[in-house]
Amino acid sequence: MTVNPITNLLGMPRADLERLFADMGEKTFRARQMMQWVYGRSVLHLDDMTDLSKTLRHSLDGHVEFGLPQVHERHDAADGVIKWSLRAGGSQAIETVFIPEENRGTLCVSSQVGCAMDCPFCATGRQGFNRNLSEAEIVGQVMLAKRELDAVDGPRISNVVFMGMGEPLANLRAVIKAVDILLDDFGFGLSRRRVTVSTSGLVPQLRKLGAESNVALAVSLHAPNDALRDVLVPINRRYPIAELLDACWDYARMTNLKDVTFEYVMLADVNDSVEQAHELSRLLVNRPAKVNLIPFNPFPGSDYRRSPQVAVDRFRQILLEAGIITVTRKTRGDDIAAACGQLAGQVNNRVRTPLSGKLLSSKMQQDQLQ
Ligand code: SAH
Ligand code: SF4
Repeated sequence: MTVNPITNLLGMPRADLERLFADMGEKTFRARQMMQWVYGRSVLHLDDMTDLSKTLRHSLDGHVEFGLPQVHERHDAADGVIKWSLRAGGSQAIETVFIPEENRGTLCVSSQVGCAMDCPFCATGRQGFNRNLSEAEIVGQVMLAKRELDAVDGPRISNVVFMGMGEPLANLRAVIKAVDILLDDFGFGLSRRRVTVSTSGLVPQLRKLGAESNVALAVSLHAPNDALRDVLVPINRRYPIAELLDACWDYARMTNLKDVTFEYVMLADVNDSVEQAHELSRLLVNRPAKVNLIPFNPFPGSDYRRSPQVAVDRFRQILLEAGIITVTRKTRGDDIAAACGQLAGQVNNRVRTPLSGKLLSSKMQQDQLQ
């Protein structure tokens, strides 16, 4: 007797679900019906999906599930930010953060357990990498947050950003599926401008994302020249700034995106000088680019310091004078360590490889491009 593993249907794109039903001899519209229950009404039990025939429910029973991640801890900050720490197998944990603002509610999701990119100013990077999350685990973060917010008639999730733990483009296959569900009218139905993938700059994967999806893009630039970026974002040694920016302009053109957001974490006396602001503006001027200056969020053991406000204002002014839209990101959820780059979860480190090394050429990375 063979025991089939139970398939988690959460995160399965509509086209795949339709194929599954077709293979069962069912009508493909069953996929849309099921998705309306799951994503529209947050119903996760087959028994409750009353417009699916009893026979169909019976044949699915025991073979499929809609499994959510398990909550390890939930923290509520004074400013309304919520952070969930979710179990990711064994003693591992990932984090998901909800940030309510006046006109929107942004959910920041994780894409990996840890991160192999090793950026020295990032708590996730310091922990090393364990594994990729599945599409079910990514979509599960959104579903779980939505259910907990809806249960208390709380604010809605209007935006999803892949800015939690992990490098989304190193887990491209699962991220593309998750994005598909986020944008699908029978999924979460978000507009493509409200779903943002943030990347440290894996160029081949970025080009593939542009060919297969059209979501908003944020790129962690953090330095205006290769010498400094090689240190702050070590993947730069593999894909230097000129190559990365070319891929960004192509992405904007292919996807018809008004602009790419460049994230720039402000580190005192490292990347916040007047000269560096001019250097950055020369890279981005007259391009489909806007800049997001992020205050550095310290974490235990970090060596960097936050730039003083006057340095941030000066830097911003120079970019504005070059005609580049530049905003300064507010820090939220500070009291529960929920801000950008502070997400640490619990990672039992398996790979902590400086990027010049074997990790990037490994099969694992190549697999994501097939
Ligand atoms: N791996 C992706 C997405 C996750 S990180 C990326 O790097 O883009 C999300 C953002 O937080 C990135 O711009 C990252 O550089 C930034 N970040 C990381 N550590 C930070 C810190 N300590 N303070 C402020 N921002 C940080
Ligand atoms: Fe990974 Fe992004 Fe952190 Fe760099 S900044 S280590 S890419 S999560």
